[in-house]
Amino acid sequence: ADDINTQTTTPVPPDTSHKTVLVTGGAGFIGSHVAQALLQRGDDVVIIDNMNDYYPVHIKENNLHILKTTSAAQQRQNATTTSSRRLTIYRGDICNQTLLDQIFRETRPSHICHLAARAGVRPSVEDPFLYVQTNIMGTTRLLEMAVQYNVSNFVYASSSSVYGGSSSSSSSRNNNNNNNRTTFSETQQLDRPWSPYAATKKSTELMAATYHHLYNLHSTGLRFFTVYGPRGRPDMAPYKFVDRVSRGLPIPQYGDGTAVRDFTYIDDIVQGILQSLDRAYPCQVFNLGRGEGIVLKDFIQLVERFTNKQATIQVLPTQTGDVPYTMADTSKARALLGYLPKVSFDEGIRRTVEWYNRTHLGRPKQQQLQDTLPKTSRRRQLDGT
Ligand code: NAD
Repeated sequence: ADDINTQTTTPVPPDTSHKTVLVTGGAGFIGSHVAQALLQRGDDVVIIDNMNDYYPVHIKENNLHILKTTSAAQQRQNATTTSSRRLTIYRGDICNQTLLDQIFRETRPSHICHLAARAGVRPSVEDPFLYVQTNIMGTTRLLEMAVQYNVSNFVYASSSSVYGGSSSSSSSRNNNNNNNRTTFSETQQLDRPWSPYAATKKSTELMAATYHHLYNLHSTGLRFFTVYGPRGRPDMAPYKFVDRVSRGLPIPQYGDGTAVRDFTYIDDIVQGILQSLDRAYPCQVFNLGRGEGIVLKDFIQLVERFTNKQATIQVLPTQTGDVPYTMADTSKARALLGYLPKVSFDEGIRRTVEWYNRTHLGRPKQQQLQDTLPKTSRRRQLDGT
């Protein structure tokens, strides 16, 4: 089995003492939610984000605005206690060593939550160098800084993409429907990534394991399974479904809609990240998913129910190598982190649509996000995050 996962470990008790957490990619979808939760529970947050235009930058600016408001509210609430820095934002690249030196010198983070990355599977096929630069080089720079500044815990984003199509011989099987039902488990041998993105994510896990071996740096890699919810990424399927159904635009559906996917609500992911920050395991990797799986057709039906609109489906051929059933085995995260996803698909989609209606429907047309359908690529089509 995978080296990173062979250690048998008993649960580590949480350390709830005050932390200064460097959240890389803190202006992004997951990062901004994590930063908000940290601020709300009284930790100090330092953000580095280069505000790249992978999706519209005004979304990230808005995320930072929400964080500033949250921080100001916390400051007012705690006016009587000793004041602290609370929220510090640096706009810049994790590959900029001079900036990293400055940030660590000025803020001395006790913990790192490393989420900055080039995300997206398909674009990584088109521009692999960008992914290697940000995801591998950037992560290595942060690991170096973590060692230099004696950071107590390095939590970083991996991805369910590392599983690729999952070889059925090495994954957990659940054949109760005679389908090829495959749950992905951390003990699975992983040596066949399907995209440069997946390969960079697997590389960060290997690099973190190396830094543990060399310097005893404590790290936890989290393999997120498609995350959705308020402030969700506009390039991802759950957001596209809500956006396009709301606006009466066709939504692309690859295959007959019977594929099953593990979509995870943002609050559950945030819970898992905070639990990981609080428990410094020597070197671990966890799946963070809902652990349930939903048929795409059913997901779209829920979107229809909460938007009160009928979806127009544009049926496209099944993508090469598309896996009919992907689902996280979350037993390890449950046992060692206390991770327990709470938000059902019903509730998650209801909240997402409610957020969408509140923030998007009143917006002038030119500010709405582009509604392009996926481009066909001469390369093999890939799905995932
Ligand atoms: P996101 O794109 O919203 O957030 C990433 C942030 O990092 C962005 O704000 C971006 O500007 C910033 N960034 C990118 N490159 C940078 C660089 N070189 N220097 C500084 N900042 C940089 O994506 P997200 O959905 O919030 O994902 C967060 C992490 O989780 C990523 O590592 C992603 O690969 C991983 N992940 C996400 C999902 C998902 O479903 N959203 C699934 C699996 C893994």
